[in-house]
Amino acid sequence: MKLLLATQNPNKVIELKRLSHNQLDVVSLSDLNIEEDVEETGQTFEENARLKALWAYHKTGIPCIADDSGLEITALNNEPGVYSARYLGVNTPYPIKNQIVLERMQKQSDRSARFISVVCLVLSEYDVHCFEGIMKGSIATEAKGSNGFGYDPIFLPENHALTYAEMDLSTKNTLSHRGQAFRKVITYLESRAEYEK
Ligand code: IMP
Repeated sequence: MKLLLATQNPNKVIELKRLSHNQLDVVSLSDLNIEEDVEETGQTFEENARLKALWAYHKTGIPCIADDSGLEITALNNEPGVYSARYLGVNTPYPIKNQIVLERMQKQSDRSARFISVVCLVLSEYDVHCFEGIMKGSIATEAKGSNGFGYDPIFLPENHALTYAEMDLSTKNTLSHRGQAFRKVITYLESRAEYEK
């Protein structure tokens, strides 16, 4: 089945294809030469994922998936949350953002945090389904590791001694919030006839 993943990020396409054991013919916006992106005006991960997936579906007519993810830190009133990409300035490099987060966390005894991903699948205008993946964990006391992106160096997934950024990509994908949500989409598609086409 052909599926458009509404992203410019080639790594997400690779991850989804791999998780579907190459059963899904996943293309990205850049594969279709679509350079524009939709503004994430939603107040929740689900609203943003839904509006991106519907926008891409209306633009192409191809069944679409879009995801929206972010980090919620309990002691910071669940910030950065849906504003994870824009938090502390959209152009601020992540090593600086991560240092600021660590400073804000210095006196906090509750270091719990979680990554959330909501993936929205649009098979047709009225055939829309959303799936959530959550990885609980905590904020490390210092940034560690150089793999991955974003807040990876400061996030310690529950029951693991390494940050996301210290793990190799396949280990991170096995447990990550996005990996969990992608797996739920694949399981759902497997229950639908469209998956066989
Ligand atoms: P997106 O919805 O995947 O584009 O993610 C939005 C923002 O959330 C990113 O720009 C990062 O700041 C943060 N984020 C989401 N997933 C991850 C992750 O797996 N590692 C680190 N940061 C992430």
